[in-house]
Amino acid sequence: MLVPESRRDVVIIGAGVIGLVTAWRALQRGLTVTLVDPEPGSKASHVAAGMLAPVSEITYGEEPMLRLGLASLDRYPAFVAELEEVTGQDTGYRADGLLHVAFDGGDLASLDDLRRFQESLGVRAEALTGRECRTLEPMLAPSVRGGLLAPDDGSIDPRRLTAALLTAVDRAGGELVRLRATDVIVERDTAVGVRLAGGGEIRADRVVLAAGPWIGDLGGLPPDIVPPVRPVKGQVLRLKTTVPFLTRATWGLVRGSSIYLVPRANGEIVVGATQEELGYDTRITAGGIWELLRDAREVLPGITELEFIEVNASLRPRSPDDVPILGAAALPGLFLAAGHFRDGVLLTPVTGDVMAEVLAGGALPALAEAFTPDRFDKRARA
Ligand SMILES: Cc1cc2nc3c(=O)[nH]c(=O)nc-3n(C[C@H](O)[C@H](O)[C@H](O)COP(=O)(O)OP(=O)(O)OC[C@H]3O[C@@H](n4cnc5c(N)ncnc54)[C@H](O)[C@@H]3O)c2cc1C
Repeated sequence: MLVPESRRDVVIIGAGVIGLVTAWRALQRGLTVTLVDPEPGSKASHVAAGMLAPVSEITYGEEPMLRLGLASLDRYPAFVAELEEVTGQDTGYRADGLLHVAFDGGDLASLDDLRRFQESLGVRAEALTGRECRTLEPMLAPSVRGGLLAPDDGSIDPRRLTAALLTAVDRAGGELVRLRATDVIVERDTAVGVRLAGGGEIRADRVVLAAGPWIGDLGGLPPDIVPPVRPVKGQVLRLKTTVPFLTRATWGLVRGSSIYLVPRANGEIVVGATQEELGYDTRITAGGIWELLRDAREVLPGITELEFIEVNASLRPRSPDDVPILGAAALPGLFLAAGHFRDGVLLTPVTGDVMAEVLAGGALPALAEAFTPDRFDKRARA
């Protein structure tokens, strides 16, 4: 692809949901933006289940992260309405709640802890008996002991979301260069652009790294400017039903391990996900699929009748403290939007707003203060 000569306001490396939403929101601020990605939307954003669940049993954690997730969930209805209006594309957004179900007594006790935690945060959660769970979802196993309905949670189809964001970026005048970035160009201690595979370059006033677990691969940067973001593999599978089977996203706790099933309007059901620290390996394994099917079958025995349509693996971008890295880096001109780990789809709206504000020269929103890249420098100095 020909890379035009003129200088941009912003160049973004990586066009997953995080790079794309940053581009769209920055374009809306009147900035000129180029995205660089050889395969836009092909990695974690392609494989993700798309649950919008800021409080779940594995995201017990720090208050700032919960506040960020809840703020993003709040923004979702308006964000989706605007995106669908601008593009005419459906994103598969559903605000019909998330049902947690427990398989044995220990799982039920964990759900009760989760309910208390949600209530302490002012998050609505309704405890349900096994029978009430089956009234909501008749295909649940008779052995389901009880559950918890988080009525404000929801889900979205990340593939549709990515496709809509690509259209929105295009309509807003954004440029997409389908090449790999190899280096950040640094001159006089300032990031001034991006070098591309094949030799071209793009000059810009602000360079954003949004390349998921690959942000550390870029050459040209001084050491320790980019915090480590490591890959965490997740395998997921997709089933298909032609009859009513599951109406809302359902998260099962089965003897302490978790499994989720996320239905789409077209009959697809996403079943996920493994969590494996194996570097950049994305092989599908028999054991991974077996564990997912084994646990899913305990919760919804009828899944064995469904058509098996797809299996994938991709890499969640995990920062050293498990929460995102947002805002200006220590090198002038360089910005980071990475490390969204298990929640990048949930955090898409709030990330776009925070990054656009900062890129447009505004102050970092208070909501994002706990997520700046310099938290790692401070820790190193302490
Ligand atoms: C199995 C699984 C299930 C998940 N489920 C959920 C969920 O239910 N809810 C939720 O909120 N989140 C979920 N996530 C997490 C979510 O998918 C991620 O947090 C999110 O997609 C991260 O988006 P990203 O844009 O940072 O990264 P990615 O989507 O990985 O995008 C990074 C992009 O950078 C590009 N790139 C890499 N190197 C270069 C380079 N040198 N030059 C140019 N481009 C480059 C890649 O091509 C890619 O397009 C899940 C993830 C997985 C793996």
